[in-house]
Amino acid sequence: MTTTDVTLLTLGGDEVSVGASRIAELGSRLRGDLLAPGHADYEQARLVWNGMIDRRPALIARCRDVEDVVAAVRFADEHELPVAVRGGGHGVAGHAVVDGGLVVDLSPMRSVEVDPAARTARAGGGSRLADVDRATQAHGLAAPLGVVSRTGIAGLTLSGGIGWLRRAYGLTCDNLLAAQVVTAGGRVVTAGGDGDPELLWALRGGGGNFGVVTSFEYRLHPVGPEIMVAFVLYPGERAAEVIEFCASYTATAPEAVSPLCFVGRVPRTEAFPEEAHGLPYAALAAVHPGDPAEGASVLQPLRELGRPIVDLSGPMRYTEAQTLLDEDYPDGWRYYWKSVELDELSPDVVRRVLAHAAAAPSDHSTVDVWCNGGAMGRVPADATAFGARPAVLLGYEANFEDAAAADENVAWVRDSIDELRPFSTGGAYLNFPGFFEEGDELLRASFGEANYARLVAVKNALDPANVFRFNGNIAPTA
Ligand code: FAD
Repeated sequence: MTTTDVTLLTLGGDEVSVGASRIAELGSRLRGDLLAPGHADYEQARLVWNGMIDRRPALIARCRDVEDVVAAVRFADEHELPVAVRGGGHGVAGHAVVDGGLVVDLSPMRSVEVDPAARTARAGGGSRLADVDRATQAHGLAAPLGVVSRTGIAGLTLSGGIGWLRRAYGLTCDNLLAAQVVTAGGRVVTAGGDGDPELLWALRGGGGNFGVVTSFEYRLHPVGPEIMVAFVLYPGERAAEVIEFCASYTATAPEAVSPLCFVGRVPRTEAFPEEAHGLPYAALAAVHPGDPAEGASVLQPLRELGRPIVDLSGPMRYTEAQTLLDEDYPDGWRYYWKSVELDELSPDVVRRVLAHAAAAPSDHSTVDVWCNGGAMGRVPADATAFGARPAVLLGYEANFEDAAAADENVAWVRDSIDELRPFSTGGAYLNFPGFFEEGDELLRASFGEANYARLVAVKNALDPANVFRFNGNIAPTA
């Protein structure tokens, strides 16, 4: 706890000094810690996963329960402070931390309760994917989440959530049944269930615009625990064929399977043959959530496109499959990601993707091709805030270690995406957002105009002063 006054930056941009006694009073109300500059944990607590983000909040409230969140949000309200909300801290745009304002940090709120009979789970707003998977898999169940276990469920769910189960069971947000939310001013409301259905609609894709979500309740599905995974790296010269196969296989494969293809250069690690290190590859990956023997036969075609660089496929526990890509994204490296949504994968697009991948300045960057459809694709555009469901999502990930290489990596992503825009539906996946430099235009195109108008109405009702603005921001008009 701080014993000195703290200088804060108000929403209006003015610097104000808040007395030590007022800060101490907030600290005494919290069960969790309140960190200000000078606190031993402050420097670590202000960091997020993306090392490109270097911000210094005035206060970080490490919330342990909903009452802590209410106290923090009321304090922000009283002092007209900008509020950033931190779930897992893995948002690529770094919106979980703000200069001069207050961070409502939910990282201590990671408990998960499962009701196996009802096939539901309720998870704290700071949970990581691994927390939910561990708890649900104890009952042979899973919520459809993303593919890297260390990332947060909050950002994932609030802007969609695509993973290995998307064609079988939909996006993460499609499986959100209810949520507890602390809205501006510190009111605790329920979305869904017996609570506000319109707020639940908005939380299913509309991002962190409406308040702090302190818990998420998900519908669960039978998965594993032992499942079959296909994960094969083919040589770069076969890349066009591999990408096109990903699309054609997806068109006829059972919906249980949600393939992902990505192109990059072979990591220089023991998992890969040394002679291939640094060479271009095209990877095909998919999970079959059912019986492993059936999964092996359904996934076999993904393993038969000729001689691979390496075939890491095999039966494994679902929780292990969820960690297969974890090591590719070290904390504190630099990341700049963007995406485009497409109706189809034309040969013209494939040619461009391969030219872009070959030109990537960093060996750790990839271009990811998510082939969708199935349960995810069937949800009507107006059923959730997420909007229209793209048949294909292209994700461009600049992943690099060296701060001095930022400009060329950012330019690589921006220029590549610009070149693909003529082929795009106009929308992007808001969980792979770069730094939202396109602003409003991109949001409108991604949600669709009708959904955007409906989201503005929810925002006007719940947050007319735009307290929650560090996100893909839906500006209130009230
Ligand atoms: P944070 O940085 O904590 O927050 C992100 C945003 O959500 C911020 O605007 C924040 O204010 C808001 N927010 C956070 N918590 C709350 C809350 N409790 N209430 C209200 N608002 C909140 N996405 C996929 O769909 N599928 C994938 O497979 C996938 N893989 C990924 C792999 C890696 C390595 C990374 C870094 C990201 C991946 N993503 C994926 C994208 C990921 O879903 C987003 O980055 C997401 O925002 C991370 O959530 P978080 O809670 O960790 O983020």
